[in-house]
Formats: sequence, C-alpha cells, structure tokens
Amino acid sequence: MAKLYFRYGAMNSGKSTALLQAAYNYEERGQRVLLAKPRVDTKGDDAIVSRLGVTRPVDVTFAPDDDVREVFCRSRERVRAETGTDLSCLLVDEVQFLTPVQVDDLLRIAVLEGVPVLAYGIRTDFRTIAFPGSRRLLEVAHSLEELKTICRCGRKAVFNARKVGDRFVFDGDQVAIDGREVTYESLCGACYLAESDGRLA
Ligand SMILES: [Zn+2]
Repeated sequence: MAKLYFRYGAMNSGKSTALLQAAYNYEERGQRVLLAKPRVDTKGDDAIVSRLGVTRPVDVTFAPDDDVREVFCRSRERVRAETGTDLSCLLVDEVQFLTPVQVDDLLRIAVLEGVPVLAYGIRTDFRTIAFPGSRRLLEVAHSLEELKTICRCGRKAVFNARKVGDRFVFDGDQVAIDGREVTYESLCGACYLAESDGRLA
C-alpha cells in the first residue's frame, strides 16, 4: 500500500532541498512525479525554491477550496495521455498551508489511488501553535520524519521565531510569508523562551 509521509522541520531545515532531491531520485529511475504546493505561499510564486539555489516550477498549485484528490487525478490523466506513463509520487511543499480537508485528500491519494505522497512542511507557527494542516498530518500520516536544523546556540532548533526588522514579535497573524519586513529564525526551546520572556503561545 502506498503511504502518506510527513517530513517536517523548523524553517531553514532544508525541506525544499530534500523535496527536490526526492523528485530527482524518482526521475533518475525513469519515473514521473507531480510537484505541488498550496497557492497561499507567494514565496517563489509557482516554483519550489531551495536555499541551495536550485529552483523548479511546480506542476500544480492548490487553492484553499480545491479538491486536492480531483486535481491530482486530472493531472495523472494528463500525464498518462501525454507520456503514456503513470505518476509514481506526489510531492507537496509548504504543506502546512493546506486545509485539514485537503490533508485528508492526501491520505486518500496514497491509500485509494495507490500513489505515495511526500509532504514537506513546518509543524508550528511563530507562536508554537500547530498549523491546521500540519496538525492533521501529525494525526493521519503513516510516517513522520523530522528534518533537523541547528539553533544559533548549537542545539536542535524546533521553533520558528518571527522577526520584524531585528526585533522578535510574538503577536500577529499565523500566516505572514517571509519577505522584506518579516523574517524567521529557527530557535531551540531555550533560546525561544529567552526571547519571549518565558511565553509560549
Ligand atoms: Zn538555542
């Protein structure tokens, strides 16, 4: 049976790089993959952008009210018609921005359509609260794998602290895509609590 994999990590843990490497591994064996991401993420528009400098356009984007399974099945039919081959894998970047209903569709794609789904994303927001899509993945994914990154102090980073300019902030909307004003720093628990004066959520 095909499985749903959730590969999560703090920001800057190399998720997009790992996704592009996984896609390459399939394609090296002559297999076809479908690259997807939620449409809410404006970073890189319709491309997967790795911090190592590798960029690749996605095949599909999912709007918040899209039926993810239906979009996938349409794409699979198109690939079959164009190339005569079947999709071997669905890879989703920034998966924390999918809705819980869409995450359930990822499980259906794996179990009912028989295609493995590799979903990459962040577990919690800047206030240490799970993204709804990530919470659902923690509940239903067959496999959970943490991609690790290091805090400035050398310990494992687990939280994504938000900065505006050079100041840490602990209030605001859950989704603020990093750009010129808002940035994020991956911190361990000790450094996060030191910056937040002991506050969580
Ligand atoms: Zn630290």
